[in-house]
Amino acid sequence: MTTIQVKDEWKADAKLTEDEYRDWYRISVEDPDGFWGEHGKRVDWIKPYTKVKNTSFAPGNVDIRWFEDGTLNVSANCIDRHLAMRGNQTAILWEGDDPADSRAISYRELHGEVCRMANVLLANGVRKGDRVTIYMPMIPEAAVAMLASARIGAVHSVVFGGFSPDALAGRLEGAQSSVLITADEGLRGGRKVPLKKNADRACEIAAAAGQDVRTVLVVRRTGGEVAWQDGRDVWWHEAREEVSADCPPAEMGAEDPLFILYTSGSTGKPKGVLHTSGGYLVYASMTHEYVFDYHEGDIYWCTADVGWVTGHSYIVYGPLANGATTLMFEGVPNYPDASRFWQVVDKHKVNIFYTAPTAIRALMGAGDDKVLSTSRASLRVLGSVGEPINPEAWTWYYRVVGEERCPVVDTWWQTETGGILITPLPGAIALKPGSATLPFFGVQPQLVDNEGAVIEGEGAGNLCITDSWPGQMRTVYGDHERFEQTYFSTYRDKYFTGDGARRDADGYWWITGRVDDVLNVSGHRMGTAEVESALVSHPKVSEAAVVGYPHDLKGQGIYCYVTLMEGENETEELRKELVAHVRNEIGPIASPDKIQFAPGLPKTRSGKIMRRILRKIAEDDFGALGDTSTLADPGVVEDLVEHRQNRK
Ligand code: ATP
Ligand code: MG
Repeated sequence: MTTIQVKDEWKADAKLTEDEYRDWYRISVEDPDGFWGEHGKRVDWIKPYTKVKNTSFAPGNVDIRWFEDGTLNVSANCIDRHLAMRGNQTAILWEGDDPADSRAISYRELHGEVCRMANVLLANGVRKGDRVTIYMPMIPEAAVAMLASARIGAVHSVVFGGFSPDALAGRLEGAQSSVLITADEGLRGGRKVPLKKNADRACEIAAAAGQDVRTVLVVRRTGGEVAWQDGRDVWWHEAREEVSADCPPAEMGAEDPLFILYTSGSTGKPKGVLHTSGGYLVYASMTHEYVFDYHEGDIYWCTADVGWVTGHSYIVYGPLANGATTLMFEGVPNYPDASRFWQVVDKHKVNIFYTAPTAIRALMGAGDDKVLSTSRASLRVLGSVGEPINPEAWTWYYRVVGEERCPVVDTWWQTETGGILITPLPGAIALKPGSATLPFFGVQPQLVDNEGAVIEGEGAGNLCITDSWPGQMRTVYGDHERFEQTYFSTYRDKYFTGDGARRDADGYWWITGRVDDVLNVSGHRMGTAEVESALVSHPKVSEAAVVGYPHDLKGQGIYCYVTLMEGENETEELRKELVAHVRNEIGPIASPDKIQFAPGLPKTRSGKIMRRILRKIAEDDFGALGDTSTLADPGVVEDLVEHRQNRK
């Protein structure tokens, strides 16, 4: 495997050298109280903490607390404390779906808007600890709504604006939320999304299940017609005129809840993850600064939606806590065309860019000229998150997008972890395409086999984390037993991630995919990521998903779904070529048994491949596809099923 050494230009910018990283890391695990006691001071506390870490992963007694006797307000940390120094600096740089539409909101303006919305919430009876559900397009008011909740100590639950009324209703019920903030309509890729209409329907469904929504605060985005329920529905643009632009931040305990957020639903029914205030903010801001090598004045862009944890930690909380300018993009990567990301980079002179493998692979499939027609000279650091990134896609990102000038940080983490856990630090850590490299400060990954025995040195197994870090989730909302059961019961005294990983001779970590997806072919265990990466390394393939299916001789056969580059033809010859290619890349043991060409793959609404559905299709088990509520495009599944049935 190639290693890309740290370049001198990167070192010049870097916050830390490799030696410093190793020193800090060692201290962070030897003396977590000392390390985090010091770094916890990066946020402003109302009452400083005297205790730092108080955590237990013990069976039946999982209890996680950080900075527990300190008090703070998260919104004041993200806004008020910057006013004196950078009140006029842009906090949120908004780029609309339409390339002609953009808006810059300064920290001072953000302060006014957040205070007003906080006052509107208070006027509508929202109190500390109440849950506020946010179902919004990617407009600044989504961040305003989050920060306004945090300001008064309410707990937000953001539901991705692409979810259906049913999914929204389930989340309203789950959070027992009687207040909803939404917009008339969203706008994505030139198409309108009927948010208010969906919200109305969701409220009906929730009411039937016993969860009444008392207030629906509606932001006007498109001006489209909406139905109106007097007494319940409130226009934001009207209500904001009635309230003061000042709202004192509530004093919150470090362990008071900040938000509930559901996982993506890649492996099953989404879990309502609960994060609290102090530790989460310390961890989000610290990782944002070090992982992206954030420097004062940088323009920072994370392309995620605020409906996902990446949007929470790395569009809103981390960057704003650090006083950054955070770009918020309403649209999609391929509208008006597949050059859009790079056009936005040039338009706003973006320095740090953070996106997902699904977008990288799609843009790679659209051809290099879409990238090469733009300058991208402002870029300094590139990031990836959400799925394993195939070395081929990594290399394309590094070479074509970053022109080998920008380190690529492949950041591994989860909704549950609150922030990035395994990642290179730019300018400090040598890179290997496809590897998330090394743990962040305080994070202690460990490999175990299926019996829980620890695997030392080089090897592959189940990825656990042996001790707590400040950003860790505290519980599954309303179901602490499910929390313990899901994450702490598989391996004693350890947090089990559900992911598989490999550690190489240099101690670098490679995420091999979900352990549920691991292939077992004639007794050989293989990560899906490995076979997928071999397929994607073929010049005609843009994306691939691999699953196992019952095979008489081998136990499990390898079933591959392959999406080709734009303009390539699905031929029998190519199918053979791909089989030979994988044999060549990995070995005969990984030889695909079946290859199905798939113009689209089933993905969650956050863009992750749902292999559990593909497994069912490969097994011909079309009846029981499981929870499909988080599926982005059900049509893709219908096509795959049809295709599969016709081939027999
Ligand atoms: P669910 O838990 O409901 O099945 P999910 O795991 O997809 O959904 P998220 O919390 O959004 O929900 O995603 C976290 C998962 O995404 C990780 O456990 C891992 O499988 C994958 N992932 C995230 N970043 C990376 C990365 N850099 N490399 C490899 N895998 C990653
Ligand atoms: Mg998960």
